[in-house]
Amino acid sequence: MFQRFIYQLQRFMYGRYGGDSLNIFLLILGLIISFAAQISGVFWIGLFAYIPEIYFIFRVLSRNIPARQRELRVFQKVWFPVKNFFTRTCGGWFKYQAEKFRYRSVYKYFSCPKCGQHLRAPRGRGKILVTCQKCHTEFKKKV
Ligand SMILES: [Zn+2]
Repeated sequence: MFQRFIYQLQRFMYGRYGGDSLNIFLLILGLIISFAAQISGVFWIGLFAYIPEIYFIFRVLSRNIPARQRELRVFQKVWFPVKNFFTRTCGGWFKYQAEKFRYRSVYKYFSCPKCGQHLRAPRGRGKILVTCQKCHTEFKKKV
């Protein structure tokens, strides 16, 4: 039953464009707009969600593959600099938050009170004397 469905889907999608990163972007954009409409309670904002959603469906089912690939290249030209900008500016912060979360049971994370350097120490040792790696300030910290 499931295999039959997959087979029919594959046959239906044969020669059609399908998914790419622009389609994922359109899908997420549509979701964000409908979400914004929901939380703001402004009904007509939700109507704008149809624009990326319809464009998404149109692109998935399109048989004009060269045209869709041209759109993807235009999209990438705009998107890559934006993505790189955010990776440069916020990438380190996200990485640090992810590390903090991953090792939250092993290490206590904190910042140097003088220079703001990120520091960590193994948990469960009680009150310890910390020396900052960067500015060598000493301070007491409960871990
Ligand atoms: Zn410091």
